[in-house]
Amino acid sequence: MSEKVNCLIIGSGPAGYTAAIYAARANMNPVLYQGIQPGGQLTTTTDVENFPGYPKGISGPEMMIELQSQAERFGTDIRNGWITNVDFRNELKLWVNNEHELECNTVIISTGASAKYLGLKSEKKYLELGGGVSACAVCDGFFYKNQEVVIVGGGDSACEEAHYLSKLCSKVTMLVRKSQFRASKIMQDRVIKTANIEILYNTSTVEVKGDGQLVTSILIKNNLNNKLREIPATGFFVAIGHKPNTDIFKPYINMDSTGYIINEQGSTKTNIKGVFVSGDAADHTYRQAITAAGTGCMAALDAERYLASM
Ligand code: NDP
Repeated sequence: MSEKVNCLIIGSGPAGYTAAIYAARANMNPVLYQGIQPGGQLTTTTDVENFPGYPKGISGPEMMIELQSQAERFGTDIRNGWITNVDFRNELKLWVNNEHELECNTVIISTGASAKYLGLKSEKKYLELGGGVSACAVCDGFFYKNQEVVIVGGGDSACEEAHYLSKLCSKVTMLVRKSQFRASKIMQDRVIKTANIEILYNTSTVEVKGDGQLVTSILIKNNLNNKLREIPATGFFVAIGHKPNTDIFKPYINMDSTGYIINEQGSTKTNIKGVFVSGDAADHTYRQAITAAGTGCMAALDAERYLASM
């Protein structure tokens, strides 16, 4: 027996919760599945200073708790669970944790994106061992208090995380593969001006070295002269961007080669009737909490109009 759901929202970042607030207030009886990282990427960030309405800033996790309670206040049914299977051939059918079947009138995909890794064998080894590789400085930085760490990446995330780590660790070495940052000027300046952050440009990671249990150093290469060098570090942080969490929809939903869902221009409609997309799952350009929230609102309004026309 499948459960009938009027409006299913998948994902619990700013996109999902905003869609839920609008859908609940429009009496669409939304059911929201939180996924494996309730609150999404913002639960791994420090202060959010650029979301309008918080002049003093707010911590990412705190903001997500507030968004969740706002969605609950209007009656959103928020559940733990992971959508594991999809069948959009005739009806909109989805399965939670491989067993519970849902038959939906509308689906809003707000599954966000996940951290990327370099793909080195040694990186994977110490990541799986929990021995010193991480893609979240805010989650794991505390474990490297007063120690030397390395962070890879030249974008805003890398700068933000390097700055966060610099307050905990004795030294932070940033590996930037090109001769310049990709990050915004303000974020670059913040790391450049921090005394215990050393920036190595034109530098890539060759190997994460360790004693079999814990990371002890990083073998790096200067991309201009191919010279190798080992730098001591007990923590190796990766901040090189994200991949959209859209794989399960691939057989049915149009997406680009990276997996970003392609929506109809000026709307959140996908190529499947009744399925809408919001947030980072479809956005490789802006990727901000505020833009995710904006498209979450749009998706709920689009879904409401679709239901009214059914
Ligand atoms: P980005 O895609 O912006 O940057 C990724 C960085 O990682 C680039 O410097 C890239 O190098 C580097 N990189 C990618 N692959 C590799 C690799 N294999 N080896 C080494 N380096 C690699 O991702 P972010 O996560 O930093 O940011 C995503 C979005 O979120 C952006 O729009 C950003 O502005 C936003 N953001 C905003 C924040 C804020 O305003 N507070 C905080 C964090 C993120 P290259 O430049 O050479 O391609």
